[in-house]
Amino acid sequence: MHSSKTILVTGGAGYIGTHTVVALQKAGYTVIILDNLVHGHRDLVEGVLKTELLVGDTGDRPLLDHLFATRKIDAVMHFAGFAYVGESMFYPRKYYRNNVVATLTLLEAMVDAGIKQFVFSSTCATYGYPQSGVTVLNETHPQQPINPYGRTKLMIEQVLADFAIAYGFRSVIFRYFNASGAHPSGQLGEDHHPETHLIPLILMTALGKRDKISIYGNDYPTPDGTCIRDYIHVCDLAEAHVLGLSYLLSGEPGAVFNLGNGNGFSVQSVIETARRVTQREIHAEVCHRRPGDPPLLVGSSDKARHVLGWCPQYSDLTTILSHAWRWHQYRHG
Ligand code: UDP
Repeated sequence: MHSSKTILVTGGAGYIGTHTVVALQKAGYTVIILDNLVHGHRDLVEGVLKTELLVGDTGDRPLLDHLFATRKIDAVMHFAGFAYVGESMFYPRKYYRNNVVATLTLLEAMVDAGIKQFVFSSTCATYGYPQSGVTVLNETHPQQPINPYGRTKLMIEQVLADFAIAYGFRSVIFRYFNASGAHPSGQLGEDHHPETHLIPLILMTALGKRDKISIYGNDYPTPDGTCIRDYIHVCDLAEAHVLGLSYLLSGEPGAVFNLGNGNGFSVQSVIETARRVTQREIHAEVCHRRPGDPPLLVGSSDKARHVLGWCPQYSDLTTILSHAWRWHQYRHG
């Protein structure tokens, strides 16, 4: 138990944030959430997490200074950020402002307050196109992002490397593959406005809230022509954060870890599995490619397994979709 440790969780009212707060509470940590509620959900924090919620922005330096001066914070987990690849292509300034500038403000406030332990949500989108012949990416793969979202996350990874040298800052950086699924209780899950992610859109179609799911291109160099991604259950991501935090708190140096399943599924196969899980009609229509999408992104998480002892519990796609379906029926049914 870590009852003496207090963790600030930015973006703790969002999708991965809420699931991680539950896991942190279970591990005995005290949690303070900082969320501006642009994408976060007050009802989930108040109704399910029952955690202290500060409504505010991570780029608000006076707010941060006051918080760090008045509360003893042992570490910060930073989930707050925009995460739509497609949107980042059309509104890059929004991504640089929020994901880079606001994060830098947070990091500066932390350094000035002497808080130097940080868990950062990065992304497989920092890798860009897999190098020729590479089918499973590990952490040493070159990072050449092909969209602004990936670039914003890579910039902060670089800032963290420099802060480590200059200020003794220690960070665990997690590069997520595709976060998916929902809490098995059915009370927490993904609820973005607008929703752009594949699995929620498929399930909204199954619920009859949408007419169809668009398949963004079927002419990619993959077996069925649709993009392949590595879908990782959000509760497995949450557990990795608890392990990463305790690794940091035990005094280990910073590290970077991929968090994925190591298995890729095509858009087409996700739709077919969703038809089986939901037993509903799901009308799909092929349309043009979405700019910024690499054909294949699958990660090796061997390092997280070996160093952190991470062991995903819900790796199969049917379980991921079943949990997401339970949540969608509860939230939107
Ligand atoms: N996708 C799709 N139709 C949609 C939404 C997504 O075909 O309505 C595809 C998208 O091109 C990508 C995959 O599904 O290949 C996963 O996309 P998502 O937006 O869920 O996550 P991302 O990989 O962008 O983080």
